[in-house]
Amino acid sequence: MQYATQPTASHYVNGEYLEDTAGDEIAVIYPATGERIATVHAATPKVIEAAIAAAERAQAQWAATSPRERGRVLTRAAQIMRERNHALSVLETYDTGKPLQETLVADATSGSDALEYFGGIANGLTGEHIPLGEDWVYTVREPLGVCVGIGAWNYPTQIACWKAAPALACGNAMVFKPSETTPLSALKVAEILTEAGAPAGLFNVVQGMGEVGGALVSDPRVAKVSLTGSVPTGRKVYASAASQMKHVTMELGGKSPLVIFDDADLDSAVSGAINANFYSSGQVCSNGTRVFVQKGIKEAFLARLAERLKGAVMGDPLDEATNFGPMVSQRQMEIVQGYIAKGKDEGARLVAGGNRIERDGFWLEPTVFADVTDDMTIAREEIFGPVLSVLDFDTEEEAIARANATEYGLAAGVFTRDISRAHRVVAQFHAGSCFINSYNDAPVEAPFGGVKASGVGRENSKAAIDHWSQLKSVYVRMGDCEAAF
Ligand code: NDP
Repeated sequence: MQYATQPTASHYVNGEYLEDTAGDEIAVIYPATGERIATVHAATPKVIEAAIAAAERAQAQWAATSPRERGRVLTRAAQIMRERNHALSVLETYDTGKPLQETLVADATSGSDALEYFGGIANGLTGEHIPLGEDWVYTVREPLGVCVGIGAWNYPTQIACWKAAPALACGNAMVFKPSETTPLSALKVAEILTEAGAPAGLFNVVQGMGEVGGALVSDPRVAKVSLTGSVPTGRKVYASAASQMKHVTMELGGKSPLVIFDDADLDSAVSGAINANFYSSGQVCSNGTRVFVQKGIKEAFLARLAERLKGAVMGDPLDEATNFGPMVSQRQMEIVQGYIAKGKDEGARLVAGGNRIERDGFWLEPTVFADVTDDMTIAREEIFGPVLSVLDFDTEEEAIARANATEYGLAAGVFTRDISRAHRVVAQFHAGSCFINSYNDAPVEAPFGGVKASGVGRENSKAAIDHWSQLKSVYVRMGDCEAAF
């Protein structure tokens, strides 16, 4: 790719780009065409060592910097990111294949929101005073130290920023490993943080596959690991971190329910189902892929959805008229094709899509199955592609029980005009993020994260602070200290 903003080397360590061609080659493929647009190299042990050592040095200096100054650096980074939104969005589109129409509003913009939010609250992070009569306790909110961030491939800029912004605000340093499928965008985040005044080594990016992530997680100098990825990877990373008693945040997968009652506004509910299944071509962790539709409106819902799907524009992702892009990789496309085949084999009714689009790149049609039952594979497993399953139900009680009958618990949504029912249903959902008459909104002000197998901890909002800092309690005795002997 001859693109002005393309990163100039594989890694970003100690405030500058770093190359080590001894590492395995990783081809960066533009999903819309299948062409190789760049090549990076996996981090060698030498690169990993340089990154962790740089982070350790920077962290000591950064923790001693006033929180207000730390906040200013993050705020400046947010401004730079916003000013360069267009160029960063183009790069994100090359990295992920997501249409520019999306990347312009959901990636660097969301990243800069996080940098701005945590930049803004950095100097408000305080401990408390706990009176005990004459004596008292005060608490100090301290950083954890060197933290590792590991990202999935669907939102590379956003994931890097959602982890880095609160981590850095709290006085930590970070080594970040993007997914090997989308290695480019996080490097630009590192570049921008340096430009905004972050000390060399504060935010480092190293490339590689799972084993590079594994080496980072098991390094004894690392205090915390924050992973965005699948449940199987989460189990491995959590176990490795637990063996050294490290802090973790796990943002994992889901199979979230979207429950549509027959009093819902039909078009609004169809919009919700589209947002819950086809944004980023379905490659969103919180997607509401089990769409429970009350029997009274099921056929009307399906008819309207099929009609609305005609509005999907699959073209050059860099053309802003395109609103539906390819799968991120050949592998992901094949995984999704496998699920579509299973849906047909197991007796679900294919209502729309289901096919690969015959052109270069990894394109699949937006796909809708109806008459899906709870036991079908497509209703149980995370597909991570544009496959919407419609399941029908009779009663509220039944819908809630079936919605919760999954090992996952990332998100859940409800569409109804009955305000009491909306809150009653949400109160019973086993999910970290819930939506009423909406789906997939993720403002930085709101905590984000899952329950059950979907994860541990929360990103964004004030809640993230608890996951990137620790409290020291200091007991202060005002009189003499006495003892039994
Ligand atoms: P993976 O779990 O395959 O990978 C996630 C990251 O972990 C990648 O960078 C991967 O490296 C790395 N990794 C893999 N194995 C190990 C290991 N043993 N030790 C350390 N790191 C490792 O997820 P995908 O990239 O395929 O992303 C899709 C998944 O992410 C879905 O399940 C989705 O739901 C989830 N997700 C969750 C979100 C949330 O916020 N809850 C948001 C977005 C996605 P590499 O791929 O380079 O091998």
